[in-house]
Amino acid sequence: MTTPVRDLPLLLLGAGSDPASERGVDCPGELPPASDPALVERARAAKAALGDRVFVLGHHYQRDEVIQFADVTGDSFKLAREAAARPDAPYVVFCGVHFMAESADILTAPHQQVVLPDLAAGCSMADMATFDQVEECWEVLEEAGIADEVVPVTYMNSSADIKAFVGRRGGVVCTSSNAKRALDWAYAKGKKVLFLPDQHLGRNTAVLEMGFELDDCVVYNPHRPDGGLTRAQMADAKMILWRGHCSVHGRFSKASVDDVRARVPGVNVLVHPECQHEVVLAADLVGSTEYIIKTVEAAPAGSSWAIGTELNLVRRLATEHPDKNVMFLDKAVCFCSTMNRIDLPHLVWSLEALVRGEVVNRIQVDEETAHYARAALDQMLALP
Ligand code: SF4
Repeated sequence: MTTPVRDLPLLLLGAGSDPASERGVDCPGELPPASDPALVERARAAKAALGDRVFVLGHHYQRDEVIQFADVTGDSFKLAREAAARPDAPYVVFCGVHFMAESADILTAPHQQVVLPDLAAGCSMADMATFDQVEECWEVLEEAGIADEVVPVTYMNSSADIKAFVGRRGGVVCTSSNAKRALDWAYAKGKKVLFLPDQHLGRNTAVLEMGFELDDCVVYNPHRPDGGLTRAQMADAKMILWRGHCSVHGRFSKASVDDVRARVPGVNVLVHPECQHEVVLAADLVGSTEYIIKTVEAAPAGSSWAIGTELNLVRRLATEHPDKNVMFLDKAVCFCSTMNRIDLPHLVWSLEALVRGEVVNRIQVDEETAHYARAALDQMLALP
């Protein structure tokens, strides 16, 4: 097992560190200053020196300064699979967040070493479901006499510990692209689903794609006794949603949608399913990051798009499609602060260390956790 992370305090960037977790950990080396004008050249030189020995993955939410060095870009699952498809590269540098690097480590060969350029690049959503909390939840379900009917399903955006928990209990991992297929599979197997850790993806999929009523869903709050639920509520529910959310997508509101519609005639509102239910209801289209990219690519010139997802991606789409009017859904700037931890100084530092033969910030999931997490990931790959 990896060390379970408990009741993580929120860390403000640059304000303190939390050595007991993977977040807020000081970088153990001499980072080049961000003002170094040679950073781009240094990154290029280090990558060239490493050649095929390094494979750099870049999540869509990464900064432009980093994404320019990615050998492949994509969402978390695509990137983990890409890494697994490149067994010749002993080093995989994952420009993304911690749970993604864990998945890459689980899916790659044992001789491949996965590096996260800044260990403080965590995910607030993944942190909202800790191993101890989820174990406790399962005990609550057992005491309520319903655990046998429940199939656990976890979103890719969860720690390896949580994926392993799900794999041990015969559940499945899902992404925002295949959540409905994962839920169809789970409901063929059991009567209820415990959906971790993103309540919005679970609710939006259940209600909008599977025809559930909102009342079929209850929310388990890990900070309240018995999750804040009565036995009757647990017994009646078809979907038990974990009380977690993405701090980036969760901030879009119905008011943002109304506002952009008033300001931009004919605008198409396109949002990610991690957004709140009322935002998804008010939008024109909803879909995963890859869906958002493809939709904008296929849109006619002159069309207007207000997009509810991470700002680095929206800005990149706007730059890549100057013939379309691509804008951020909210008026306020909204980067994913942990994704943004990976910057050029960290990338240069980790690449130059590899050139010296030194592997820094390696992410390694222990064998037992990896075994069960892989079972849940493999079940996802086997979904009909
Ligand atoms: S965008 Fe949301 S889900 Fe993705 S890494 Fe950031 S906090 Fe986590």
